[in-house]
Amino acid sequence: MGEREVAHDPDCLFCKIVQGQIPSRKVHEDEQVYVFHDIHPWAPVHFLMVPKQHIPSFAQLGPEHAGLMGHMMTLAPRLALQEGCRPYPEGGFRIVSNTGAEGGQEVHHLHVHVMGGPRPWLRG
Ligand code: AMP
Ligand code: ZN
Repeated sequence: MGEREVAHDPDCLFCKIVQGQIPSRKVHEDEQVYVFHDIHPWAPVHFLMVPKQHIPSFAQLGPEHAGLMGHMMTLAPRLALQEGCRPYPEGGFRIVSNTGAEGGQEVHHLHVHVMGGPRPWLRG
């Protein structure tokens, strides 16, 4: 699917970032996924992985998203190393996805936080 066919929500912050309407520090981009540094990092390495397509959260995922999510999750370890996380097992990283109000989600466009680097961290 090309960028033009991807469904965006005009009121969504991360859709605006995906489309370049709001600036971001890009880590990676491909047909399905956009990855950028978190503006308020909790850890020395802290980036966000989002589908280009607007999906509000993990709660909306179905079997049709298996390919997309498989791609995103298998990309995470490669990007973590690229961004400075030390290799497993001494290094590693943390993957978090806040979902819904009780899950602590603030931006309602599905995203995965990838955090790593030497401790202590600000949070997490
Ligand atoms: P969550 O609480 O999981 O919804 O997290 C939203 C994350 O988006 C937070 O860690 C914010 O620091 C981050 N964030 C908000 N606005 C921006 C932005 N313009 N660029 C990069 N990250 C952002
Ligand atoms: Zn969105």
